[in-house]
This record gives sequence, C-alpha cells and structure tokens, in this order.
Amino acid sequence: MEFKIATIKGDGIGPEIINAAIAVLDKIGKIYNHKFDFNFVKMGGVAIDNTGVPLPEETLQACLQADSVLLGAVGGPKWDNLPGHLRPESGLLGLRKGMQLFANIRPAILLPPLKEACPLRADIRDKGIDMVIVRELTGGLYFGKKGYYGEGKQLTAFDTLPYSVAEIERIAKIAFEIALGRKKKVISIDKANVLESSRLWRKTVHELAKEYPQLQVEDMLVDNAAMQLVRNPSQFDVIVTENMFGDIISDEAAQVSGSIGILASGSLGADKKGLYEPIHGSAPDIAGKDIANPIATIISAAMMLRDSFGLKAEHNSIIAAINKVLEEGYRTADISSPNCMIIGCRKMTELIVSNLS
Ligand code: NAD
Repeated sequence: MEFKIATIKGDGIGPEIINAAIAVLDKIGKIYNHKFDFNFVKMGGVAIDNTGVPLPEETLQACLQADSVLLGAVGGPKWDNLPGHLRPESGLLGLRKGMQLFANIRPAILLPPLKEACPLRADIRDKGIDMVIVRELTGGLYFGKKGYYGEGKQLTAFDTLPYSVAEIERIAKIAFEIALGRKKKVISIDKANVLESSRLWRKTVHELAKEYPQLQVEDMLVDNAAMQLVRNPSQFDVIVTENMFGDIISDEAAQVSGSIGILASGSLGADKKGLYEPIHGSAPDIAGKDIANPIATIISAAMMLRDSFGLKAEHNSIIAAINKVLEEGYRTADISSPNCMIIGCRKMTELIVSNLS
C-alpha cells in the first residue's frame, strides 16, 4: 500500500525525533511492502522565520491533502515574545481546526521494561497498564457559551457545557472502532448523576452501542474514574469521554504510565485522517545534543499506522521492537535507571530499527 504523510519536523528536538520516526517507517515499509511518501512542510518557529506566519497556507493544504500528518514539536524561546496569533503554538491550533480534528487519542501504556517509572504500588502496576483514552476535542465546556453578568460582588462568570447527539455519536464511534481492534471493552466516563449533558451523553453512547454487539460498553462516573485509574488501572481498555473530563483523566493516566519521553498522541477527524505527535514539547534545552528520547514520536507514528491506515501488525511490530530494546537495558537519559546503558537519540533509533521484524 502507498501512503502520503505530511511531515512537520518543527523546532527544537523536532527534527531529531521525526528523523527517528522516518527511519522506523522506512524499515516497516521494506518489511511489509508499503511505500510511505513523506512531504516535508513547515510549521511553528521555523515557518515564522521563513514565511512570517506559524501556519502557512501551503502547509495546511499539504496536510489536508495527505493521508495523515506526523508532527515533531513546535516552539522555543526565540519566538516567545511574539503576539499570541503569531506564536508557533497557534500554528498547531490552526492546523487542528483546519483539519477538523475532534477526537484526541492518547494511549497510556506502561511498557513492561519501564515499570519502575510507575508511581503506583508494585502489586497494582504489575497487573499491567494498557489503555487508550478517546477525548472529545472540539465541544463541551471549553467551547460552550460563556460570559459575565451582574456587577460588584454580584459579578458572575459562567461557562456552559453543550453536547449534541451528533457530536457524541461521532466520538463514541471512534472509540468503538478502536475497541474492536483491542480487548473490546469501552468505559464511557460522564457525570450523569448531576449533568444533563452527561445524561444525553450516556443515552447516546448506549444507543450507538446496540450497533456494536461485540463490545462490552459500561459507564463510569468521572469521580470514580479518577479513583479507579490509580486503584486498578488494569481494568481499563478504551475510555471515551467529553472534553474537560478527558483533559484531566488523560493527564492522570499519563502520569501513572510513565515518562514524558514515551507518551504519544493522535487526533482524528471524520475521515480517519489524523495528526500524530508526541505529547511533549520541543525541549529547546536539549535540542541538537542527540540526547532526546525518540520513543514518543516513534509510538505516535505506530499509532498512525494502526488508527489511520489500518496496519495493526505493523503497529505491533514497532511496539515489540521498542520493548525489546528497553528489555536489553538501553535507555535515553530521561528514562535512565540504575545499571542501564544510556544511549542517544540516534543510537536508540538504530537499535529499534534493527529489532523490527
Ligand atoms: P517540553 O515538553 O518541551 O520539555 C519539558 C522537559 O522535558 C524538558 O526538560 C525537556 O528537556 C524534557 N523533554 C521533553 N521531551 C523530551 C524527550 N523527547 N526526550 C528527553 N527529554 C524530553 O516542555 P516545555 O519546556 O514546557 O516547552 C518547550 C517548548 O515546547 C515551548 O515553546 C512550548 O510552548 C512548546 N510546546 C510545544 C508542544 C507541541 O508542539 N505540541 C507541546 C508542549 C510544549
């Protein structure tokens, strides 16, 4: 198969970690007989330096025309004093909006060789952590009607939390499709004992679940979910939830599952086209030193293969190679532990590539 990937290296460590992901994808292409066609486009600080804006129209068009987008990271102190709409990060927001990405997918996996990074008790963590959080990204409290009324001590601020059936259906469908390729268990998180929007959420999720009899779909109140994530994280397979709950829950899950250098993410729109990126930033403090951890970006690329291109075996092969290298005791500095061998970004990439099969 042939896939067009709009590729944004970005700023700071962006070029180093994207080069790592490309090396892995090239090898996967050779093993599984796919052609990955990388179209390099500029966004963020490097785009500001070259074109005066963080998201040139040419970049947006290339991303819209590609099968998916792979992004390193953008930003850095050089551009920190520009007005908000000209800062590198506004390019990212513009790209998410332009591509109409409404679903944020964040895996929270405790890679077995990195279990020491988990802050939970050994008996809890040893049951394994491997979940995907599907967060609605363009609705709810962050985008609802908001404002002020009254004055003095009666000055009152308000935010509203609207969700339509269509918005709930499309995010639940993404979660259900992902669950079909996993352990087939979905937990929908809401606050249906208090919020009307959650009651509609729950009803809509249940209606859609009738079309997916293979799945086990359950509800969980958000306060209980926050507790269960630290009490018994192994019970979760796929979580689907609205924007604000997802914002909070996904950071909690990230924390229990490891270090920033290994956390990946993808954002999806209606047509399975996605934007895949590590959750960390451009790490200007370590840029160009060959010490950045490329694993989060490599896992993001693996997610692209599975969630946008339907290449599950290729995804699994990448994750297996990463685990193998970590099991052999190799670490980048950010995830180092006693008795491990500390290596740089290039060497880590080389080892992962050579373990692909
Ligand atoms: P950061 O994630 O870039 O760095 C935080 C710390 O983690 C630093 O010490 C860094 O060295 C370390 N780190 C991050 N990624 C690493 C990796 N792959 N390997 C090893 N160590 C790693 O966050 P920050 O310092 O707050 O932000 C730096 C810049 O990145 C800012 O301009 C910020 O706006 C931008 N940013 C961009 C994105 C994005 O592009 N999606 C996300 C967050 C921050």
